[in-house]
Amino acid sequence: MADLPLRPELAGQEPYGAPQLDVPHRLNVNENPYPPSPGLLAAIGRAAADPGLNRYPDREATALRTDLAAYLGHGLGPENVWAANGSNEVMTHLLQAFGGPGRTVLTFAPSYSMYPEYARNTYTRYLTAPRRPDFTVDADLVRAAVAEHHPDVLLLTSPNNPTGTSVSLDVVRLACEVAPGMVVVDEAYQEFARSGTPSALSLLAEHPRLVVTRTMSKAFAFAGGRLGYLAAAPAVVDACRIVRLPYHLSAVTQAVARVALAHAPELLSQVDALRRERDLLVDWLRDRGLAVADTDANFVLFGRFADRSAVWRGLLERGVLIRETGPDGWLRVSAGTPTEMAAFRTALVQVAEEMALPGWVPEQEGARA
Ligand SMILES: *Cc1c(COP(=O)(O)O)cnc(C)c1O
Repeated sequence: MADLPLRPELAGQEPYGAPQLDVPHRLNVNENPYPPSPGLLAAIGRAAADPGLNRYPDREATALRTDLAAYLGHGLGPENVWAANGSNEVMTHLLQAFGGPGRTVLTFAPSYSMYPEYARNTYTRYLTAPRRPDFTVDADLVRAAVAEHHPDVLLLTSPNNPTGTSVSLDVVRLACEVAPGMVVVDEAYQEFARSGTPSALSLLAEHPRLVVTRTMSKAFAFAGGRLGYLAAAPAVVDACRIVRLPYHLSAVTQAVARVALAHAPELLSQVDALRRERDLLVDWLRDRGLAVADTDANFVLFGRFADRSAVWRGLLERGVLIRETGPDGWLRVSAGTPTEMAAFRTALVQVAEEMALPGWVPEQEGARA
C-alpha cells in the first residue's frame, strides 16, 4: 500500500466496519433479528428464479419505485422515489449530486459513523455542530449552525444513530426555511419511533429541497437484500438519476425487494415487539443506575463507563456482541428477541459485578413494590 499512488486523504484509512463476529447474540448493527418466514422465502425464491438475467435490469427501477411510493403513502408516486443498494448508496448519490468539491455537508454530532465516509468519497467537506448534552437538536442549534456554516447539504438524522434521538417536525420545518441548500432527513429507523412521532414525509409537499431517506435494512428485516430509498420532489430524483451508475440496482435486487414489499405487514410485524423490548431495556438499564439516552430507534445508547472497552469485551466474552460507538463512555446495544435481551442483561450483570462498576444498582431478588 505504501508504494501505491493513493489519493492522499485515503492514506492510512481503514475500511468501515463493525466487527462481524460469529457469536451467539449479535446486537451490534441494529438488524431485525427475526428471519423471513418459509412462505416469504419461497416467494423470494420464485421471484429470483427468473428475473431476466440475460438482460440489463430496468435502469429506472420503475416497478420497485412504484411499490415503495405506495408503501410510503403521503400521496407520493414513483417520480418522488429513488432507490439504490442500501441507503448508503442513496446518500452517496445525494452528495454526488448536491455536494462535491468546494461544497459542504453539515450534521449534528454524535451521529452515524458512515457520514464522513460518504463525504470523503464524494469530495464533499464534512462539518459537524454539537448536539445538546441530551443529544437533542433544537431550533436554536439549527439556526446557529446554518448561520455559521451555510451548508450545501444539511443532514438531520431522525431517529439519530447512535443516540436514538428524534428531531421534531418543527425543527425540520425550520431547517427547510433557514438552510440555503438541501435538507436531508435520514429516517432509517422511523418505523421504530414511539407512536405519535411524525415523519418528515408530511413536509415534502411544502419543501422542494427536502429529502427523506429510508431503508429496508432495519424495520423491514432486509439488511441482506440491500435496498435503501428516498422520497423527494421529482427534480431531486432526476438529479440522482444523473449520477447513479447505469444499472446500479440488479434485476435480482429489484425483484426480491418487490416481494419483500408485498409482504410488508409480515416483515414489519415484529416492530412492535422490538419497540417493547427496547422500552423494557431502557427501564432496566436506568434501574441499574446507568445513563440511557431517550430512544426512538431499535437500539439503546447507555453508559457512562470509565472503560467502555472493558465492558464491551466482558460482554463479548459472554457471547454478546454490542457496539462500541458514540461519545466516549457510552455503548450501544440493539433491541433483539426476548432471549437475546435476557442474555444481554445476564452478561451485563456479570460484567458489572466482576468490574465492580461504580453506581451499579443490583437487581432485588423478588423486589417488593
Ligand atoms: C443503518 C443505517 C442506515 C441504513 O443503511 P443501509 O445502507 O440502508 O443498510 C442509514 N442511516 C443510518 C443512520 C443507519 O444507522
